[in-house]
Amino acid sequence: MTNQPARAVGDGQLFIDGKFGPSDSGKTVEDINPATELPICQVAWGGESDLDRAVQSARRAFDVGPWPTMPGKERAGVLYRIADGIEAAAEDLALRETLDVGKPITFTRGFDVRAAAEIFRYYAGMVEQLEGAARPAGARSLQYTRREPLGVVGAITPFNFPLNLAVNKIAPALAAGNTVVHKPAEQTPLTALKLAEIMAEAGLPEGVHNVVTGDGATVGAAFSVHPGIDKISFTGSTATGKRLIAAAAGTLKRVTVELGGKGANLIFDDADLEAAVQSAFQAAFFNTGQFCMSGSRLLVHRSVHDEVVDRLAAVAESVPIGDPLDEATVLGPLAHRAQLDKVIEYVGIGLAEGAELRSGGSTGHEGPGFYHQPTIFTGVTPEMRVAQEEIFGPILTVLPFDTDEEAVEIANGTPYGLASGLHTQNIRRAHNVAAQLQSGIVWVNTWAQFENSTSFGGYKSSGYGRELGPEGIEEYLQYKTVYINVD
Ligand code: NAP
Repeated sequence: MTNQPARAVGDGQLFIDGKFGPSDSGKTVEDINPATELPICQVAWGGESDLDRAVQSARRAFDVGPWPTMPGKERAGVLYRIADGIEAAAEDLALRETLDVGKPITFTRGFDVRAAAEIFRYYAGMVEQLEGAARPAGARSLQYTRREPLGVVGAITPFNFPLNLAVNKIAPALAAGNTVVHKPAEQTPLTALKLAEIMAEAGLPEGVHNVVTGDGATVGAAFSVHPGIDKISFTGSTATGKRLIAAAAGTLKRVTVELGGKGANLIFDDADLEAAVQSAFQAAFFNTGQFCMSGSRLLVHRSVHDEVVDRLAAVAESVPIGDPLDEATVLGPLAHRAQLDKVIEYVGIGLAEGAELRSGGSTGHEGPGFYHQPTIFTGVTPEMRVAQEEIFGPILTVLPFDTDEEAVEIANGTPYGLASGLHTQNIRRAHNVAAQLQSGIVWVNTWAQFENSTSFGGYKSSGYGRELGPEGIEEYLQYKTVYINVD
């Protein structure tokens, strides 16, 4: 296999006003493959003036059109062609995502790329259904509502699901008639650039979609204060989200934030233990734990605790870890060095807090690559930092419980509220506990199951706003009321 994407689309360039070009400073940085620590290509290091050019382009494309006023079936047609283009470029996109993020190639082919095309189709199908409503307004007048786009949307995305999280924002924003400026994470920008090419080739008018690569501290921060951006859709950590919201207040732009998580996965004593253990492994270690909705806290009824831990450790110790381009690999490296350093630091924190290392605990690897073993801590208490703070890596903390009430209390006992789950064969318990869990999504006897028609988003410090489903497009629309006096 190669260390290069099929074609170096956008190598060292930004995508503004329908074309690739260098940043104003001309500066580029190396994009590093986390499996080899070797450079993949150069990426443009955009700055504030580049963001400004991109916003002006998106502004023109919105204010002059034709995108926002294009007949629905034409707009939908472009989105359907983008989906086709993603499928035609599937292997290139999958390779980019695998090289950039370190995710197994089977996964980038089977999920990231496939889902990206499906999401464009899902929202394309919604374009012609954006109906307003006629409302009672007396005999001599007419009142109706129009659902209108917001304007220029700034989309800011993190490193862990670069293509998917971008598409979750771009597809509904465009379907609603907005124009977009996207900033991918500095470590993983390669699919965003290829997607820009696909979208242009599908007939998206110039300026409707722009990509500015660069770092969060300069380009990202400039989104919040730019007066030409009407809405920011942000996915990232809770700390960055809070900074962004505060900075955006000055221009009163709309903001939705999809933030961090510390998901609780509950295994009750009546669960199908084999199925629950397999699900718990996926919940904790999927994407090497770099999953906002990971079940990184496993709460197990005391009567089955030891059996669950033994089975889980056996799975963790036998899972194929290695080259993400190898189709047999299940867990790849972490996406960048700082993420690996953070995981190593948290292993030390867990040990210092008195948690017991049941499995893993080291990189388990010699040579290049940001690899780390799936790591299981038992003897964890709810107040420990490893049970409270989002680690965003392959570390699972296991906590025992005795009653349903105690399980719910521990599950809800962090500032986060993104995803949670439970395993039981008792339908009454399933509904009762699901209703009490404070999170935007609750999985029963499964984990990480998604449909495009089903939205997700945060409770508490996991943010606000929803992505996917019909709720996903509402985030990019505003209502106008029109009164007509017919006297
Ligand atoms: P992050 O550090 O918060 O970065 C997210 C994005 O924000 C990146 O593009 C980053 O740019 C940019 N950024 C940094 N500082 C900024 C600022 N002051 N203003 C505007 N943008 C700024 O998060 P991450 O480490 O990439 O991603 C991991 C986090 O994302 C975890 O907390 C995870 O739970 C969360 N996440 C949430 C969801 C969800 O749906 N709720 C999904 C996935 C991930 P640079 O990286 O280029 O510096």
